[in-house]
Amino acid sequence: MDSNPIVKLTELFRHFPGLGPRQARRFVYHLLAQDKSFQDQLVYNISNLKKMVLQCPDCYRFFAVSENHQNDIRCKICTDKTRDAKQLMIVEKDVDMEAIQRAGSYSGHYFVLGGNLPLIEKKNSAVIRLAELKNILQSKIKNGLKEIIIALSASTEGDHTADYLRHELISMADTNNIKITILGRGLSTGSEIEYADTETIRNALLNRH
Ligand SMILES: [Zn+2]
Repeated sequence: MDSNPIVKLTELFRHFPGLGPRQARRFVYHLLAQDKSFQDQLVYNISNLKKMVLQCPDCYRFFAVSENHQNDIRCKICTDKTRDAKQLMIVEKDVDMEAIQRAGSYSGHYFVLGGNLPLIEKKNSAVIRLAELKNILQSKIKNGLKEIIIALSASTEGDHTADYLRHELISMADTNNIKITILGRGLSTGSEIEYADTETIRNALLNRH
């Protein structure tokens, strides 16, 4: 390991999604140009991130402890009794769920899958939370689940993952009279849910099939 903090930090930033070596280096120089209070805040928040954020055991989204009420270990969406227990939407990542929440036309529950399946991967289920999903579905079924909405990005990997999920869930769904639907392609090919605008998300949801 390099003891040069500029090199070291650059290496760490390179782990972030979408960051190349040059951008990572720019981040480090940007940090160097900031005053101490900015750096202190950054260090404080990073070191508290794991302490102050929980992962919901139902939907697997991350949420701030402060958002949580009544000391429930589940997030406020999963504990919200006004939400529709008949619907469960499967999204790839936390930010996708936030985008759908912002669109405001969906009132069911969520499950964050944690990724998409790469096209050439033998150990399929290892990169997504398939076992966790199947597990949570058991209790969702008891609570009256009627529809599973697969809401993944309109990409080759998203489609591949959707096919795989459908294949894995179809017998459980048939046995329990649950529909499996997929978001309509109001989302243009290649588009990520997290970047889709409100109108596009609403249409995709409306045109699910
Ligand atoms: Zn939750």
